[in-house]
Amino acid sequence: MRVVVAGGGMIGLAVARLLGQRGIEPVVLERRPVGPPPTHPFMLGYHGYPAVEDMGVMDEVRSLGWDVSDGARSIGVSMSFLDFVEIVGRGVPVEHEHTIVDLVRADGRVVGVLVDGPDGRTTVESDLVIAADGVRSRVRDMAGIESRDESRGEGGFAFVSPSVIDRPFAMRFTSDGGVVIGVGWPTGSAGWWTIDKIGREAAMAPGIDAFKAAYAALLPEAAGAVEGLTSWEQVHYGEPMVLTCPRWWVPGVVAIGDAAHFFSPETGASGGLGLGDAHALAEAIVRNPDDADGACAMFAAWREPIVRPLEAADPSRAQRRAAAGGGARRPEEHWPPLTASSGSGEDGPPRRA
Ligand SMILES: Cc1cc2nc3c(=O)[nH]c(=O)nc-3n(C[C@H](O)[C@H](O)[C@H](O)COP(=O)(O)OP(=O)(O)OC[C@H]3O[C@@H](n4cnc5c(N)ncnc54)[C@H](O)[C@@H]3O)c2cc1C
Repeated sequence: MRVVVAGGGMIGLAVARLLGQRGIEPVVLERRPVGPPPTHPFMLGYHGYPAVEDMGVMDEVRSLGWDVSDGARSIGVSMSFLDFVEIVGRGVPVEHEHTIVDLVRADGRVVGVLVDGPDGRTTVESDLVIAADGVRSRVRDMAGIESRDESRGEGGFAFVSPSVIDRPFAMRFTSDGGVVIGVGWPTGSAGWWTIDKIGREAAMAPGIDAFKAAYAALLPEAAGAVEGLTSWEQVHYGEPMVLTCPRWWVPGVVAIGDAAHFFSPETGASGGLGLGDAHALAEAIVRNPDDADGACAMFAAWREPIVRPLEAADPSRAQRRAAAGGGARRPEEHWPPLTASSGSGEDGPPRRA
C-alpha cells in the first residue's frame, strides 16, 4: 500500500516508525524545517505504552523520565517532550519543508496529495493519506472529515523550565473549576494553568514575575518549577481546542492523533491516545495490505471503544466547574491578579491590575 503521512509531529513519526517495522515505508511530509518541534509539558499516558513497547524504546523512555503512579501501577511517565519526540522519530525518514496544499481525487476517493516543497509543487500518489497534521488539520478538512470544537472558551499557560523539582506530578483544581499542574523529571520541569480566554497580550501584561508568584502560590508542591523562568519566552499562552470527529476516515484519508481528537491538555491523554491510534492503524494496514478502506474500517472498529468513552468524559471546564461546585474564585486564583484596592475579589466585581 502506498501510504502518505501528513505531518511529522509525534504521531506522524510514530505511525511511520510502526509501519516501517512492519515492512511498509510511508512518505512522511512535514512543513517545518529540520529541528525540534515547539515544546510543552508532557506526561506519556498509559494509553501510549503498548505503542512505545512495540517500538522497543520503553526502557529508554523510562530512563529519561519519572513514573507517575496511582498507588498500584504506572499511569504515566513525566519527561521532556523533546526527548520523547526524538526517541520516537529516530531513524524515521521525513521530507521536511514539504507542505500539503491540496488533495488529488479520482473515482470518489483521495488518490494523492499536492505538495509545496523546495523544488516547487509536486504530486505524491497514495492509496491512503494519514492525516497526522495536528488539531487544526488541513488535510482532514480538505478531505471533508467533519470536526467539532467542544472547547468552552478557556485559555492556558504552559511552560517548560530547567528547574528540577522533587516529584513527577502535582495538580490542584481552583475554586471555579480551573486547574494548575506541575510535572517533573530528572532534568527539568513544566507546568500548566488554565485561565479565562483573554488573549495573549492581556494574559502576559502583568509580567513574568507576577506569573511566577501566582503559580507558586497556587501549586506550592511544584513552586520550584517556575524558579528557572526568566522571561515570557519560556511560557506559552494558548487557547486550546477540545476536538472530536464523529467519523475518522473517508475513502483514501484517515485522521489520527490530534487531527482526530484533542482533549484538554491537563488530561495528559491526547498524546498517548494518538500513539494508540498509530499502533492500531499500522497493524490494520498490515492486515489489509491491498484494501485501504478495509484497514480504515478495522482501525475505527478498534479505536471507537477506546477513544469515544474518553471523549464523553473529557474534563472540559464546564464539567470541572460542576465538580468544583461552581465556587467563586479565591483572590489568588484571579489572572490577571487583582489590584490591592479591589479587596478580596469576592465582595464585588473584581478589578484587574
Ligand atoms: C500545553 C499542552 C500540553 C500537553 N500535554 C500532554 C501530555 O501531558 N500528555 C500527552 O499525551 N499529550 C499532551 N499534549 C498533546 C500532545 O502534545 C499531542 O497529542 C501530540 O504532540 C501529538 O500531536 P500530533 O503529532 O497529532 O500533532 P502535532 O504535534 O500538531 O503535529 C502535526 C505536524 O503536522 C505538521 N503539518 C501541519 N499541517 C501540515 C501540512 N499541511 N503539510 C505538512 N505538514 C503539516 C505540523 O508542522 C506538525 O509538525 C499536550 C498538548 C499541549 C498543547
